[in-house]
Amino acid sequence: MSRRFEVIEEECIGCSLCSERAPGNLEIRSGSTTAQVFKQPETPEEEEACHEASDYCPTGGLKARSVDSASTKPQADTGSPALAPAGDSKPAGIAPMKLEN
Ligand code: SF4
Repeated sequence: MSRRFEVIEEECIGCSLCSERAPGNLEIRSGSTTAQVFKQPETPEEEEACHEASDYCPTGGLKARSVDSASTKPQADTGSPALAPAGDSKPAGIAPMKLEN
């Protein structure tokens, strides 16, 4: 599964740490105060550089999202298990426990 990166403008302070770590993918254009991803990583080296840039981002404004290979739709990489749909009181994937007397 590959990753796509994006900068959340509201969280970016324009410090340029990310563009220094991944100059082939991230930049702060002249006249702009926020970074942007001008090219998604295409090689393992670029992906590693973008991950490092994300790790160095002081505000968490550079996000990595998982991309399902069967779809181009990015999915949030929350690191937590899937949640049940609204209205269902049980988390998905957890079977009810049988109690014995
Ligand atoms: S490291 Fe984070 S806060 Fe700094 S320019 Fe990049 S996205 Fe913005």
